[in-house]
Amino acid sequence: MDDSSLCKKLQSKVAIVTGGASGIGEATAHLFADHGTRMIVIADIQDEKGQQVAASIDIHRCTYVHCDVTDEDQVKSMVVQTIQNHGRLDIMFSNAGIVNDKDDTILELDLSGLDRLLAVNVRGMAACVKHAGRAMVDSGVKGSIICTASVAASVGTKRYTDYTMSKHAILGLIRSASLQLGMYGIRVNCVSPAGVATPMACKAYGMDVERLEKVSSSHISLEGMVLKVNHVAEAVLFLASDASAFVTGHDLTVDGGFLAS
Ligand code: NAD
Repeated sequence: MDDSSLCKKLQSKVAIVTGGASGIGEATAHLFADHGTRMIVIADIQDEKGQQVAASIDIHRCTYVHCDVTDEDQVKSMVVQTIQNHGRLDIMFSNAGIVNDKDDTILELDLSGLDRLLAVNVRGMAACVKHAGRAMVDSGVKGSIICTASVAASVGTKRYTDYTMSKHAILGLIRSASLQLGMYGIRVNCVSPAGVATPMACKAYGMDVERLEKVSSSHISLEGMVLKVNHVAEAVLFLASDASAFVTGHDLTVDGGFLAS
């Protein structure tokens, strides 16, 4: 950890990262730790992996809790326990998300699969924003809530209908919540990555890391660059810190120019 002003701005803060056992969430938990965040609570359903990530950061500044975001009681309990154990909640990074195995078009859409996906990607994110927002309002903390949306929140896709629908909903969630929580000084934003080679993305596209990075890079305007989880984590860090004190209701794309075309 260096002594930059961004570090100082995170030093007293307590953060929750859902989906923190893997991919973008894991990278963000590490970056929060590098920037001096006082306590990071990693929440996931992959218990062994989540505990390993917490231990690899610092057992005094990072802990793991099992939380299935589709269960509102578990989300509420995660937030309440964080405040009981660590005194406050400043940052909620609501990031847990899934893709279904079948990349259906509308003509074949599996509605049960749609329900399962929306339960995590929309209902779960809403539960995290709701309970983090409630806790921040009740404790007078002017916190920052960040959701992970996607470039698929802003454009239609030829497949992955359910996933694209779910990410469009996140823009409605963060924009509405930002209007409603602004009076308490609470900011609500989202990050929207393009394709980044995490376990979820590799499974969804049926590609290994190398192939997926090649395909993703062919769709962006930053020639020769490859989107990595750390690029996304840096954007989340900005939105979490006081460096973005006047930014709310915003969709911060991390897409190498993908949506510019
Ligand atoms: P990932 O699979 O590496 O991480 C997702 C994590 O969420 C996993 O650890 C998983 O166990 C956890 N999770 C799944 N269901 C959960 C539940 N019900 N409760 C709690 N945790 C749960 O994938 P990732 O790519 O890092 O995904 C993180 C977020 O980024 C997701 O919201 C995803 O939609 C979004 N995203 C990913 C990409 C990409 O290309 N990888 C692009 C845009 C947006």
